[in-house]
Amino acid sequence: MLDQTTVEKFKASLGGELIQPNDDGYDEARKVWNAMVDKRPALIARCKGTADVITAVNFARETNLLLSIRGGGHNIAGTALCDDGLTIDLSGMKGLHVDLRTRRVRAQPGCNLGDLDRETQIFGLAVPAGIVTDTGIAGLTLGGGFGWLTRRYGYTSDNLLSADVVTADGTFLRANETENADLFWGLRGGGGNFGVVTSFEYQAYPVGPQVTAGMIIHPIENAREVVDFFREFSANAPEELCCLLTLRLAPPAPFLPKEVHGKPIVGIAVCHSGNLEDGERVIRPLKEFGDPLADVIAPKPFAVHQTLFDVAMAPGRHYYWKSHYLPEFPEAAGNVLMEHAAKITSPHSSILVFQLGGALARFGETDSPAGNRDAAYVLNVAASWEDPAHTEEQIAWSRGCWSDMQQFSTGGVNVNFMTGEEGGKRVLAAFGDANYKRLVEIKNKYDPQNMFRLNQNIPPTV
Ligand SMILES: Cc1cc2nc3c(=O)[nH]c(=O)nc-3n(C[C@H](O)[C@H](O)[C@H](O)COP(=O)(O)OP(=O)(O)OC[C@H]3O[C@@H](n4cnc5c(N)ncnc54)[C@H](O)[C@@H]3O)c2cc1C
Repeated sequence: MLDQTTVEKFKASLGGELIQPNDDGYDEARKVWNAMVDKRPALIARCKGTADVITAVNFARETNLLLSIRGGGHNIAGTALCDDGLTIDLSGMKGLHVDLRTRRVRAQPGCNLGDLDRETQIFGLAVPAGIVTDTGIAGLTLGGGFGWLTRRYGYTSDNLLSADVVTADGTFLRANETENADLFWGLRGGGGNFGVVTSFEYQAYPVGPQVTAGMIIHPIENAREVVDFFREFSANAPEELCCLLTLRLAPPAPFLPKEVHGKPIVGIAVCHSGNLEDGERVIRPLKEFGDPLADVIAPKPFAVHQTLFDVAMAPGRHYYWKSHYLPEFPEAAGNVLMEHAAKITSPHSSILVFQLGGALARFGETDSPAGNRDAAYVLNVAASWEDPAHTEEQIAWSRGCWSDMQQFSTGGVNVNFMTGEEGGKRVLAAFGDANYKRLVEIKNKYDPQNMFRLNQNIPPTV
């Protein structure tokens, strides 16, 4: 138990706010994206900059407080928060700078994907990242990070050039290919295990700003044909094209006929990030296929396309995800997904099959911890609901579908899609034996006391 004098001294030493349970705004400050997460930190340090981060890490170590790190607060497992400890909240650190000459981007860890797209797209550039604008760049990058541009440029972490890190002993380090190269390797997929990143440096690429993108939606009665089409179409896609299959109940979206709202649908979302003529040509077979209920695929700004799933994945609802990497998407896997799609009861739940492959194979499996480069797709069985009374039923649906899909999995999983209850063997599966072994060595060196343990943890062995 901390005495109030110690807390007051800590508070006075911070440039940013220190929020405690009796303060106004405490409940707001401990909210994260997933309403399933209800943790009560003793202290929330809203850091203003690196000085606050160093001060907070030193304070946690000296007082032996449990420590959690919050970037965008999006992690499904709710590891951004802790009970009774100190949460280092980086969400106010939103500085972002684009160097047009080198196309390098420096971003502080409170930026979300919307911030990153806004500052890069104004110059026709983009950093490959995820598909929902509210997601934090920090957790996403540290866990790998995939999105519409991954098939062209690799994981987000493949495009990380350097990072500034505050380690467990309060030391500030630059990590890149030549300085603290072991730490740099670990940061490119090993999660928040090694320290607090106060700045990320990325390589950006010319993208759009207009891309050919959007979603096409078919009635569930045609699911068989649509799923088959998705399989063929995505398997033959050039790297500029990324496809996503989704099965869910139709949302009350203005582009969908009213009579299908709440009824099962199947959709294919795409983003072609090459030139518009190629995009039109490549996507034509999809637009000409079948008799869709809606087709909102058209040339549009990349930053607009990035908002496509924002409403479907809105913050503040209850969420439970289970995920697999798939080496391919055989007909039998499609059958299993259709069977479980028919059991969806929540208007917010969905099954998502996101295409990977392409550029991922240009990097070696041991180039970084973000391996799983044999995966052609990532499956997310995403249960989402509003009423806590439905929690058990929704979790059971997600687990049931996930179990039946296990036979099609590579055996790997994305660390950023793991729930709080996974961990252990599943963390090992996320990294594979060789990369995990190397991560343990890095953990032993930089965080031997496991101060950074609220994450998909790699426990030290020293
Ligand atoms: C709606 C939604 C959509 C998503 N879409 C995608 C997607 O398209 N592609 C994809 O790859 N992933 C996606 N994800 C998963 C996402 O990458 C993870 O949830 C990620 O952890 C989010 O990062 P955050 O900073 O918001 O997380 P937080 O919850 O803030 O943090 C999660 C963990 O990251 C670590 N961490 C955060 N910041 C730092 C830091 N500065 N230094 C050290 N460690 C830190 C900590 O261990 C922390 O516990 C999505 C998630 C959601 C909820």
